[in-house]
Amino acid sequence: MSTLDQIPLTQLKGVGNKLAETLSKLDIYNLQDLLFHLPFRYEDRTKFIPLQHFRAGMHGLFEAEVVSHRVVYGRRRSLEVIVEGGHSRVTLRFYHFSAAQTRLLGTGALIRCYGEARLGKTGLEFYHPEYKVVNPDEPHEIPDRLTPLYPLTEGIQQGRLRTLTQLAVKWLDRSEVPDLLPASVRNEFQLPELKKALHYLHSPPTDADQEALLNGSHPCQQRLILEELLAHHLSLMKLRTSMRSQAALACPLNLASTQAIDQFLGSLPFSLTSAQQRVQQEIQTDLSQPIPMLRLVQGDVGSGKTVLAALCALQASTAGGQVALMAPTEILAEQHAQNFKRWFADTPLRLAWLSGKTKGKKRQQVLASILNGDVDIIIGTHALFQQDVHYHRLALAIIDEQHRFGVHQRLSLKDKGLNAGIVPHQLIMTATPIPRTLAMSAYADLDTSVIDELPPGRQAIETFALSDARREEMVAKVRSVCESGDQAYWVCTLIEESETLQCQAAEDTATWLSESLLGLTVALVHGRMKAQDKSLVMEAFSAGRIDVLVATTVIEVGVDVPDASLIVIENPERLGLAQLHQLRGRVGRGNKKSYCALMYHPPLSENGKERLKVMRESSDGFIIAEKDLELRGPGEVLGTKQTGLIDFKIADLQRDQGWLETVKQIAPLISQPEAIIQRWVGQSQKYAEV
Ligand code: ADP
Ligand code: MG
Repeated sequence: MSTLDQIPLTQLKGVGNKLAETLSKLDIYNLQDLLFHLPFRYEDRTKFIPLQHFRAGMHGLFEAEVVSHRVVYGRRRSLEVIVEGGHSRVTLRFYHFSAAQTRLLGTGALIRCYGEARLGKTGLEFYHPEYKVVNPDEPHEIPDRLTPLYPLTEGIQQGRLRTLTQLAVKWLDRSEVPDLLPASVRNEFQLPELKKALHYLHSPPTDADQEALLNGSHPCQQRLILEELLAHHLSLMKLRTSMRSQAALACPLNLASTQAIDQFLGSLPFSLTSAQQRVQQEIQTDLSQPIPMLRLVQGDVGSGKTVLAALCALQASTAGGQVALMAPTEILAEQHAQNFKRWFADTPLRLAWLSGKTKGKKRQQVLASILNGDVDIIIGTHALFQQDVHYHRLALAIIDEQHRFGVHQRLSLKDKGLNAGIVPHQLIMTATPIPRTLAMSAYADLDTSVIDELPPGRQAIETFALSDARREEMVAKVRSVCESGDQAYWVCTLIEESETLQCQAAEDTATWLSESLLGLTVALVHGRMKAQDKSLVMEAFSAGRIDVLVATTVIEVGVDVPDASLIVIENPERLGLAQLHQLRGRVGRGNKKSYCALMYHPPLSENGKERLKVMRESSDGFIIAEKDLELRGPGEVLGTKQTGLIDFKIADLQRDQGWLETVKQIAPLISQPEAIIQRWVGQSQKYAEV
């Protein structure tokens, strides 16, 4: 007997290639897919509701007789049909209607209707209800189960999809659909068997708990939700296992590396916080193994992630491996390059720089030195992992400030160690804390370390919001801050998603500010500038030779200038919370009292107000990340590119996060992980072959 996932849709009566093609847009390719395409709502069409029982907001089925109908010419033309049932009258209103329809709904016609009652011009009204003119002598033919409503796509209607699904349900009875959840798990959580759950969800009895069905808490749904979350988890674990089954360069803590590390630590003007020490140890242990490290380091803005990067780079290069350190922007990569150059000045380590802007002969030279093993630590942007970059012996890849570094990108790193027959250790350091639910689902294949402590002496950043009508006041504030010896950022954020416009706005602002702030040095940095010009400006700002830096979001992550104590952010209402938190984190990096001005453009939407309020009230990246998730959803927080990871059919991360812990625990009990992955992640499993 073939299993349902082997039976193509065209086996169903009336499904040809064209319809099959339409259904593929819903990711439905076979009978199993059809059965796992679940209703989002149900309607009770099993009994008639007397008209007088309807209240606004109620859905239901009723029978009534047409009393009169007319076309009304208001702001919009509509067909108004007055019907009577029992002793009540209500109005059916149609904004789209045909002459035939008007005729059919003539006085005296008996109609059967399903719709939602609303309060309209004439009292209770039904807008565009589904209806049928019936013959009073014919027997009533009404369903005895709730009617499911499915997500649709263009080219298929509700009724058609419902019929197809019912056909698939019939196949369900005579086929083998293995229940992939162990009975022990089902029993523990009192979840129904798979077949039963599917039956139930496609045609629930009339006494079903509709509220539970609507909010996804019905045991039949929960059973499937658990299975789906499990499927995603298992697919990430599969990825992890396959990665970890390969060899990495073991970088032991021996005399040489310990000495190098101690020397480096001794040269720092501070000692590590205990959180940094703990995370450092976790990384060290990983690195000393001959198995690739897969570690995510989460730490709030300013928690001191860069020194940890340096420490593990030191350990790996002392063991004779190459290290690649990637930052998301050129400015940040450049800053790292400067820091590393200074930190490693007294070591034999050789540093190299590579960005997308490294071109021509210079690029050839750098590529050759990477390939020949003439350099130890290579710092740069995404360019580091492009196809034409071949490493001599890549032992460790550090991805800084990049929580959107998804599965595909992680996978692409695997090949970068090929020359030496190793898979590089991976250290991913997040730009902002990731909400726990996302970390547990989208990054289940990584081990996590958390730096849950800021270096001593940091003061909370005072955050306030003001309308951009008060721009002049801000200028005065900038002046007073700079005259007291501090520095300020003035950030021009997105204008219509266009980088060119953003840069233009920054240029205009810089001109205007330098006129308004005579006596102070105002400079500009944006993405369209030459790399060299950018780094000159950043260096000057860093060295205190510039008072006010007007910038686009190029300074969003990582930039570290401890003397800056004021940041003005324009149009904060357009940015996500995590992004605002990151921008704000450019100040408050030393021991100075710092300020963040959110200069919005009124009027603010409700959501915009809410977001600015969160920023004013919280400085904790973990709380802000949770809020961000709540207000914007996982797709935005994780980046659209990664949504494939969290694109669930039935589960909802926010709603169903309670399962994540269980998922982790029961994953090892699953005897056929591959089957669950195939069932749920199936066609969309773009990262299947590893
Ligand atoms: P982030 O976690 O945002 O990447 P950085 O690594 O840029 O933070 O560190 C922020 C600032 O704090 C830097 O100036 C860094 O030198 C400093 N710093 C890092 N660790 C400590 C520490 N343990 N004590 C004092 N200052 C520290
Ligand atoms: Mg950083």
